[in-house]
Amino acid sequence: MMRIFLLSALIIFSPLATPIEELPEMGAPSDSVLTPIEEKRLGDAFFRNLHRHIDINQDLEIEDYIASLGNSLASHSDAPAHSFHFFVVLSPEINAFAGPAGYIGVNAGLILNTRTESELASVISHEIAHVTQNHLHRAFAAAKRMTLPMAAATLAAILIGTQVPELGQAALIALQAGGVQYQINFTRDNEKEADRIGLQILAKSNFNPRSMPAFFERLQQSTQFLGRDLPEFLRTHPVTSSRIADTRARADKFPYRQYPDSLHYLLTKAKLRVMTARNLENTVVYFRSRLNRGTPKQQAAVKYGLALALLEQHQLKESHRLLSQLLTAFPDQPQFINAIAQAEIELGQIAAGLKRYQTALRRFPASRILRLEYAQALLEARHFESARRLLTPYANNPRFPLLYKLLSRAYAGLGQHGEAHRYMAEYYYATGNLENAIQQAKLATKTAAGDRIVAAIAEERLRYFKAEKKARKK
Ligand SMILES: [Zn+2]
Repeated sequence: MMRIFLLSALIIFSPLATPIEELPEMGAPSDSVLTPIEEKRLGDAFFRNLHRHIDINQDLEIEDYIASLGNSLASHSDAPAHSFHFFVVLSPEINAFAGPAGYIGVNAGLILNTRTESELASVISHEIAHVTQNHLHRAFAAAKRMTLPMAAATLAAILIGTQVPELGQAALIALQAGGVQYQINFTRDNEKEADRIGLQILAKSNFNPRSMPAFFERLQQSTQFLGRDLPEFLRTHPVTSSRIADTRARADKFPYRQYPDSLHYLLTKAKLRVMTARNLENTVVYFRSRLNRGTPKQQAAVKYGLALALLEQHQLKESHRLLSQLLTAFPDQPQFINAIAQAEIELGQIAAGLKRYQTALRRFPASRILRLEYAQALLEARHFESARRLLTPYANNPRFPLLYKLLSRAYAGLGQHGEAHRYMAEYYYATGNLENAIQQAKLATKTAAGDRIVAAIAEERLRYFKAEKKARKK
């Protein structure tokens, strides 16, 4: 989970190490806005670049939750046709940020610091409003003064800047040296508008409007004790007392009622707590001390968190026992089916583990999450052909690069090394590692000699990656 950020700082401004697409220039500097195609190209390059510097979540269940929450909120914005891509960053910092082309990142630290799902939804709605109101268009248009890789790298550096203080500083110095005026700064008017529009999204999506002023106020109060460790979110979105007062006045106009958290939110938080734990023993203590408290859903989430932490610690029998209890109460909950199957596979009860997925898939044959989790379990059980068949329809997804890697593993297990290298090349390209992408594409052309179609695809991709590398050197 920890990365060497100083090294990243060197990579990001080295012209040899930054990914690029075929067109090195973004457009005429005189144009004040990006066309949708330019913005999409910038957004995709930005997202590939981000993987080099921050730990972007690769867990399917976490991805499924943030995508469903984010897309549901976006569907209630005044630009429901705008495309968004929501993702979780595995960082303890409290932050969320919007990049070009609707890429919205939410840190694990922010999710874990929300007390209700409405609080999380209020931050995401606020970010959606920054996108739909074009608050970042000036910053994106400044990208036209740079090459695409420089623009993508700069946006990545600025948007994750204070998470990685050295990188943020290095980015700003390099930009100033190049005479480039470039910063993300939301004005007070932008912030107020994002609050106002975000609040509408929140209310239309059936979340508690009062949670927006409540969460922002709590963040603001916490900084009085944090001093220099101001959450990154507050640096890019300065919260003032008048802003909170305005939002509260608007929120108070909505009728008061209860807004229960979804089980999905509670389970996601529990899993993220385990995934980002520095010390699993402490995490086990944390969950044990909270057992049998709160509503049935809250109790289930605590038990689930404990079961996952024990699973990580290979205390498989207790984990399995807890998950069996959960399944008795919630027989169709995919997270519980997935976790108990993992426990069974680790206990050596492979047939029983795989059968969990088969049974669940008979009931929910269209469930993408169950199919993909089953494919991962099949890979672990070395059932490569079944895994390959399940993964293939989902594999071409540069926004979730793990799927390329899983498919590569399936092909490697089947002894089809040309395909295995070809998919690894796509994995590296999608995660901003052009050198490794080229290396894997070369290996694919060599090992696919018998299969002319695979060899031809690999050669075409190799040419594409090499062209990018060449363009980058200009
Ligand atoms: Zn803001």
